[in-house]
Amino acid sequence: RRRKMVERVTTLMSQPEHIRNIGIVAHIDHGKTTLSDNLLAGAGMISEEIAGKACWMDSDEEEQARGITIDSSNVSMVHEYGGEEFLINMIDTPGHVDFGGDVTRAMRAVDGAVVLVDAVEGTMPQTETVLRQALKEGVRPVLFVNKVDRLINELQVDEMEMQIRLGKVIDKVNKLIKGMNEEAYKNGWKLDAAEGTVAFGSALYNWAISIPYMKKSGVSFKDVYDCCKAGDMKTLAKSSPLCQVVLDMVVNHLPDPLDAQKRRVPIIWQHGDQSTTEGQSMLNCDPEGPACLMVTDISFDPHAGEVATGRLFSGTLRRGSELYVMGTAKRVNRLTQVGIFMGAERIEVESLNAGNIAAVTGLKDAIVGSTVSTMMEMQTFEDLKHYSEPVMTVAVEAKNMKDLPKLVTVLRQVGKEDPTVLVNINEETGEHLISGMGELHLEIITHRIHRDKGVEIVTTPPIVVYRETITSTAGPVEGKSPNRHNRFYLEFEPLPDDVVQKIKDGDISMNLPALERRDALLEAGFDKDEAKSLVAIEATNMFFDMTKGIQYLNETMELVLEGWREALAGGPLADEQVQNVKIRLVDVKLHEDAIHRGPAQVIPAVRGAVKGGLLMAGDSLLEPMQIIQITVPQDHMGAATAQIQGRRGQVFDMKSEGDTITVVGKAPVAELFGFAGDVRSATEGRAMWSTEFAGFETVPAGMLKEVVKEIRKRKGLKEQIPEPADYLA
Ligand code: GDP
Repeated sequence: RRRKMVERVTTLMSQPEHIRNIGIVAHIDHGKTTLSDNLLAGAGMISEEIAGKACWMDSDEEEQARGITIDSSNVSMVHEYGGEEFLINMIDTPGHVDFGGDVTRAMRAVDGAVVLVDAVEGTMPQTETVLRQALKEGVRPVLFVNKVDRLINELQVDEMEMQIRLGKVIDKVNKLIKGMNEEAYKNGWKLDAAEGTVAFGSALYNWAISIPYMKKSGVSFKDVYDCCKAGDMKTLAKSSPLCQVVLDMVVNHLPDPLDAQKRRVPIIWQHGDQSTTEGQSMLNCDPEGPACLMVTDISFDPHAGEVATGRLFSGTLRRGSELYVMGTAKRVNRLTQVGIFMGAERIEVESLNAGNIAAVTGLKDAIVGSTVSTMMEMQTFEDLKHYSEPVMTVAVEAKNMKDLPKLVTVLRQVGKEDPTVLVNINEETGEHLISGMGELHLEIITHRIHRDKGVEIVTTPPIVVYRETITSTAGPVEGKSPNRHNRFYLEFEPLPDDVVQKIKDGDISMNLPALERRDALLEAGFDKDEAKSLVAIEATNMFFDMTKGIQYLNETMELVLEGWREALAGGPLADEQVQNVKIRLVDVKLHEDAIHRGPAQVIPAVRGAVKGGLLMAGDSLLEPMQIIQITVPQDHMGAATAQIQGRRGQVFDMKSEGDTITVVGKAPVAELFGFAGDVRSATEGRAMWSTEFAGFETVPAGMLKEVVKEIRKRKGLKEQIPEPADYLA
């Protein structure tokens, strides 16, 4: 039976019109895991007894214990529709805000999304976030309204009210789509129950209906209502199987790769030239063209090693294929295995062609987000945009000294697997630092290091990640090398918010071709001289070389940038990352003899000038903020509001709906430790809440000294805040 399935999968994978690459996106708890499992079981990819008991896509124990899905893992299934077979590749996406970064990369690999919404709760903040991410990537949505049984059994609505409520959910999602991308909405992406882009049902009880399916099968709203009312789910599951109705909708309304790539390539490869061979080949999903792969996930398999998963937009991959990873040393990465997913299993295949999701080994140089090609050089895909940034850090140590080398390797892996995690070493203390998107995210990562990677570790409680930035201009500031023969003159200026946003969105990026970059800078308000003098962007900082005709500067520039980057990695105030700073190099004096302008001279000179200059330009501290939404029964409103206001937070919106109210506010991450437990006890466990990253804001002046002192102490730095002269002597 297995061999037969392998045959079916491998036949279908070479017929792009029979492929659908999809993701399910939802707010946490709306039933994504249940839906995925039951679809897989229904399609015969896993036994039905296993589904419902074991969670296939939640392969991690702690995910099951917590009931949330964390990793994007892949599964595939074969579905028959209209006498033909289709291969459906499904990428799982996390439903928890702490892991927002994963949703973005999953959306890059797929062409369609099933937006899942709980019929009782309706759309939630995270529904909005994931839908927005899908639309940004050019991914087409269909809607599944889940937990319809709850409407009838818990809320006791009648048949009429059931239809009204379902209609309201559709209207709300349509309103969101229209607001996010009006053009797509008008061009046919508006959800329409009559057309079949909406289905309703109960993932848990394995049934679903859509209007086209009702017409075909004769099942009516009344039948559904009566069966639910009578608690007869079995009859429904037989007359309207979940898997059939949902996968029919997927096959019928979500695009195949041929169709999708025509539309998506101009979005996800915006800066590429569509008339080139690779451009044409990707637009046409051509298996004969050069291989162009975007890596969206990296995982570690105890047998195969590092497995890179990604979407192949053009060409064909085989074992032994020689590929290049853009943005790294131009060396050949030779594929050792080429695989595809069958059910939840990765199987090796002879070759894999454009339009599929590939799982390959041998891509040594790739990280999540890499553009990989048989061509030595190609324009990269758009950067994966993260809507969140790491806001908390823990320090980890190996319990046994002998595990230290292993810990170093494992931490490198962790950083590769999850692009929302940052791993650093504190030079002063030798500690290893892991930064993530929240308390829960970090707990899970550290737990995995122990469980999956077998390294016993000791961790500190999480601490907040701060940033430094300047508030005024300074310069020219002179930086001298230790031998005094080399001098660098720098000017400092805060970057305006709109420029910072453009950098974050990738609209200003070193990945742009030079001419486009120049235009983008002019448009953002930089003058002509600056527009052609940008030499580097690091995080949201820019470095311009405004000098002209200085001998040896070209060959020294890498060292200059190295010194600049080192200073940005840890600012003078609290050794936190520097952001939103524009630096102009306005003059340079270099020793004639290369020996006297080596790394040991240039790097400290520039680093010192940058740190000194930051202090002169009013270096200040920023703290991460989070938007908090708490939904509670009306009579718990006071408790919910107090939970935000009591944490240096402010409440700025209240929305009531029926007998519940949603309180929306903002508070600093530093005040959110233990939030989950506090909200639970303050509301007798009746609150639903979510948080979302809301950027960095200035630490209130009254607290600044104390916070800086605290950070410096923790990091083992001198208590005294440095003066510019300390760096510029
Ligand atoms: P996820 O967080 O989106 O992956 O949600 P899960 O699949 O883990 O489901 C969350 C909870 O909702 C679980 O307790 C499920 O059993 C329950 N659930 C899922 N689908 C349904 C449904 O159709 N009806 C009802 N009554 N409960 C459901």
